[in-house]
Amino acid sequence: MPLIAILAGDGIGPEVTAEARRVLDTLGLDLTYEEGLVGGAAFKAAGHPLPTETLDLARRADAILFGAVGDPDCDALERQFRPEQAILGLRKALGLFANLRPAKLFAGLEDASALRPEIARSIDMVIVRELTGDVYFGVKGIRTTADGLREGHDEMRYDEAEIARIARVGFETARTRKGKLLSVDKANVLETSQLWRDVVIEVSADYPDVELSHMYVDNAAMQMVRNPGQFDVIVTGNLFGDILSDEASMCAGSIGMLPSAALNDSNKGMYEPIHGSAPDIAGQGKANPCAAILSAAMMLRHSLDLPDAADRIEAAVAAAILGGARTPDLGGTLTTREMGDAVLANLA
Ligand code: ATP
Ligand code: MG
Repeated sequence: MPLIAILAGDGIGPEVTAEARRVLDTLGLDLTYEEGLVGGAAFKAAGHPLPTETLDLARRADAILFGAVGDPDCDALERQFRPEQAILGLRKALGLFANLRPAKLFAGLEDASALRPEIARSIDMVIVRELTGDVYFGVKGIRTTADGLREGHDEMRYDEAEIARIARVGFETARTRKGKLLSVDKANVLETSQLWRDVVIEVSADYPDVELSHMYVDNAAMQMVRNPGQFDVIVTGNLFGDILSDEASMCAGSIGMLPSAALNDSNKGMYEPIHGSAPDIAGQGKANPCAAILSAAMMLRHSLDLPDAADRIEAAVAAAILGGARTPDLGGTLTTREMGDAVLANLA
């Protein structure tokens, strides 16, 4: 029976993950679950944000359902003990190079978007962001120049194999949707982007059924608010993807609604809401659990080959929202548990 690692973490992580778990339990799937400590909770209990037992559990599991990490109590710790290191450690250890971030506006949430309702309604896209390369992992540091000035440097780098494998995820994702892929880069200025564009075009030969186009990232950022309905599947590097997906999330309404998947080249994946541990509202029952619930749906679809169960969860969230269920981030008064109840009530 497939094993799911539940790493709930800090802040609102445990609250929202509990609702995702209730939804999974109600579906009566043949899955087993094992919980592990991660983040500040793990540091406090075991002295490290990513204990060996948790890493072993993550390696053994068929998929990981992740809550959030981040704890103000841990802010003063040395870098390797900070809760956030757990997520980087898991991505690296499991080779989770592909980040899928769907952003769509749920019917009824038009007024939660930063955009005008008629524009917001057109948002339904997936950003495929490369997750283990780019400026985040190149040579970096602060050095002193010949003139005695401090100089910061972060090397931006991608090799062609890294570009090709994320490009394939982009093309495969496009195949499951409208057969259109937009690659976003800055090829007019950056050598990495020039290589990116060349390699994406080479890979496109294997996907003659997918229509490929290209856009510079500055233009993409502008188009995202001007006319987001033109976007369907976007593939881009780590840095550009980070920025564009935050922009997309605001266009799609609340941060509490958006799930994500981080995948490697087997079916294993780590699934988590795009939001963080939200210490400002932790423990108060104010967190919106929908992002966590929708992350569980992505897990069923991508790692466990249970697309029907995933569809049922997504339909239940959509129906709950359409029926007026609202946590405070959506302008309502429901608690985290009551929002979970509303989703459960709509599970066909
Ligand atoms: P991280 O660095 O982990 O991404 P962050 O600093 O970006 O964290 P979040 O923890 O995502 O911050 O919180 C940002 C804001 O959004 C906070 O005001 C928080 O209360 C709110 N928020 C985050 N998640 C939710 C949620 N599920 N429901 C309601 N509000 C949320
Ligand atoms: Mg954040």
